[in-house]
Amino acid sequence: MLDTGLYWRPLGGNNIDQISGHCYQYTCVERRGGRLCRNSIIVDLGKFDNFGALGVKDAIAAVPDIRAILTDKQLGLRGIFLTHSHPDHLNGIFHYLRAGYKLPTLYGGAYTKIVLDDMYDYYGIKPRLRPRYVVITAGDRFAFDGLNIEVVSASHTCFDAFGFIISKRGVTVYHSGDMKLDNTTFFKKPTDVKRLQALSGRINYAVADFCEIDQDGISYRERDVYKTFIDLIKKSRKHKVYLTVYPTHVEMYIIAFLVALKLRKNVVFHGDAEFYDYLKTLRRYGIDFQNLALSRIKVFYQIPEDISELGNEFVIIGSYRRLDDKYFVRPKDSIAFITARYHFAQFKKQAENLKIQTVTLNDYPLLRGSGHAFMGDWEILRELFPKVVFIPTHCPDFVLSSFCELGHLAGFRLINPLPHNNMLYRLRADNWTVIEQQPALWMVASTDKKFTAVPQCPTAGKGGIKRTYSRRRVVQKFKILEYKLEKNHGG
Ligand SMILES: [Zn+2]
Repeated sequence: MLDTGLYWRPLGGNNIDQISGHCYQYTCVERRGGRLCRNSIIVDLGKFDNFGALGVKDAIAAVPDIRAILTDKQLGLRGIFLTHSHPDHLNGIFHYLRAGYKLPTLYGGAYTKIVLDDMYDYYGIKPRLRPRYVVITAGDRFAFDGLNIEVVSASHTCFDAFGFIISKRGVTVYHSGDMKLDNTTFFKKPTDVKRLQALSGRINYAVADFCEIDQDGISYRERDVYKTFIDLIKKSRKHKVYLTVYPTHVEMYIIAFLVALKLRKNVVFHGDAEFYDYLKTLRRYGIDFQNLALSRIKVFYQIPEDISELGNEFVIIGSYRRLDDKYFVRPKDSIAFITARYHFAQFKKQAENLKIQTVTLNDYPLLRGSGHAFMGDWEILRELFPKVVFIPTHCPDFVLSSFCELGHLAGFRLINPLPHNNMLYRLRADNWTVIEQQPALWMVASTDKKFTAVPQCPTAGKGGIKRTYSRRRVVQKFKILEYKLEKNHGG
């Protein structure tokens, strides 16, 4: 049985070679009136993407194993706090409900609720089986007998993304969620650096989104992405713009729209089913493109039958897989932006064959935008939190182990040993201990609504999903960073 203290356990999110299925347990144990009082929360319950590699027939998802927390009454589970709406942080909810589990109250943003409600309908989860949902906003505070949670806003690629300040007397953890330090986000509250600054002396640990820790400098700012598009389009003097957006990157729909509005070009949204689903969610959240257009430009949600309705100046914003010739009235008067490295490969080839001017991430890396902090963002926070110990999450094992050496050079104090899923840490103000380390499991959900427990294992080269990171590329990048740092230190 756990003694008094604050405990932290990752259940997903520190994968061996993939990053998804995020899920973290926090448990506070306090002595009250002579007896031990335990309270727990879970932060996020995501889906592991490469479930196809786990060898379970008819698998439709894999999710972290929270069965013990759900069933062990002694742990006092008080709720699941949701940082944001992305599937790798959210979609475990549906699979637990489908498998017949009851879940505690969910705490999440208004946008997250819209996404969640859609998914309940999609998975046919009856209203009476849906857990209670408390809509949270930045600044909200919750207290569960000594376990305190404060909600802080976070800049990410979707709306209502949050970090949490989780504390018990004497120990405070900043759980960043997916986050960058961009204060130029459109229609989204940026990461509340002021609030973090006010808390700075108290923060002992940062459970940090190290997804892009191998990127030097500060993460790409939305305002800079916007400005770069405008500059490039103006300079090109082209009237017709083909702007690809990755379906899940809703912030790019907005940036692309604002670019078109600024340049007074009509807008056509055009893409696959997933793209339209996200567009619908955006509009339900209250982003009304027609309204934003202020009748300065025309907005279409489909390519019109009669292409001349588009006029001479337009931007087609979409998740193009291929290029349909009918959109291209005059290739000489067109420019195409490819904002993802592989997703739009076919489109890119076609555009090039048609001799349309193309701009890729090789030319302007920032056009992909970014949802996660780069090393520079974390350096800023490191300066803010004088006594912080970093607990890196959201990245594969091999990234962490290569970062370890570099981390010292760069002045990051990292927790040791590094977290692996299903390790239980007790966090004290000035030290920590690993209490236990059990093998971690994925619960694989299949079409028959059953769960199969499977050990978490490397899945690179198996299943439908390639490794998110190339080991070689990461090692190379770290070498370059290390060289730069050594030079700076006069080494
Ligand atoms: Zn995310």
